[in-house]
Amino acid sequence: MPELSRREFAQLLGSSAAIAALPLKASPQKAVRLGANENPYGPSPAALQAMRDAFSVACRYPGAEESALVAEIAGLHRVPERQVLLGNGSSDIIRLAVAAFTGPQRAVVMADPTFELAGLHASAAGTEVRRVPLDASYALDAARMLEASRGAGLVYICNPNNPTATITPDKALRSFLASLPTDTVALVDEAYDHYATSSEYSSVIDLVAKRPNLIVSRTFSKIYGMAGLRCGYCIAQEPAISRLSAQQNFNNMNVMALVAARASLRDGQQVTESRRRNSDTRAWLRQNVERLGYRMLPSEANFVMIDTGRDVKPLITSMRANGVRVGRLFPAMPHHLRVTIGTPDEMRRFVEELGRIS
Ligand code: PLP
Repeated sequence: MPELSRREFAQLLGSSAAIAALPLKASPQKAVRLGANENPYGPSPAALQAMRDAFSVACRYPGAEESALVAEIAGLHRVPERQVLLGNGSSDIIRLAVAAFTGPQRAVVMADPTFELAGLHASAAGTEVRRVPLDASYALDAARMLEASRGAGLVYICNPNNPTATITPDKALRSFLASLPTDTVALVDEAYDHYATSSEYSSVIDLVAKRPNLIVSRTFSKIYGMAGLRCGYCIAQEPAISRLSAQQNFNNMNVMALVAARASLRDGQQVTESRRRNSDTRAWLRQNVERLGYRMLPSEANFVMIDTGRDVKPLITSMRANGVRVGRLFPAMPHHLRVTIGTPDEMRRFVEELGRIS
């Protein structure tokens, strides 16, 4: 399957060439980056140290570091090592799943809106994409998803969901997965798992033991602050892992990301601290956004969806021109603005800008 260039990907995501070409008032470094759900606090100090210590192995292929990380992840989730596959970011896992389980007669099913990547890869390969609107509480519409899944190769589920930051309650998701025919694979993308605090949310990694058609993906890009390093993984039963890894490039991980990821898993403090900062800043943002008269959807992630009550595209353009990069347009929610939770200073800058254009 052909890879998309960065420009093609941006265009497919709906950011028009005009937006991409807009000059930023601030320099790119100074722009406030609230458009990609990155963690502004960066990798943990332990991860930074591990990368410094790994300079001497940069001349070697990454096999040993891969095995060490796989063992760490397997221990963390209490699964056998053969049920873990690393990816060059969790985007890689999504691409592999589309390549392995879909085809001309095997569609992809996904919610609308959700993270678009599976649909983009499927469309690029000429594979049918079936989109099912979220329900009124921005959760998976299980009955309609099930209906659409008939004969499909892959169902992509993002929980918590990007871009809405909402969750599909655990009970509903488990019941959906139990009803899914075994010849259709479910990829549950848990990129934002660590941020979810609702008692109705739970990871479904424990279900992998009994569901051969379930793949659960995670990433080091979000809570671990490693978006630029590229490391993700998935958990699935061995036959599914073999189908995925058959599509993967040799040695596609880099040693810096691998050692940083392993060190991150050992630094329990980073997760606790990132979560706390995120929820404090998010609460401050909610207050200030509401003070300006806007409504925000409930958020279980490191980003929020704000209902602007009007066409959001000009707001995105105007903010970008003023050095505040916010999320792209999601056509299913044309009035909503997706904003990443940055540092308190960055959010003050965002609120200032929102106030200015209100
Ligand atoms: N999955 C979801 C839901 C995302 O929002 C993102 C990125 O924003 C990704 C996967 C890709 O993450 P990465 O490839 O950096 O692991």
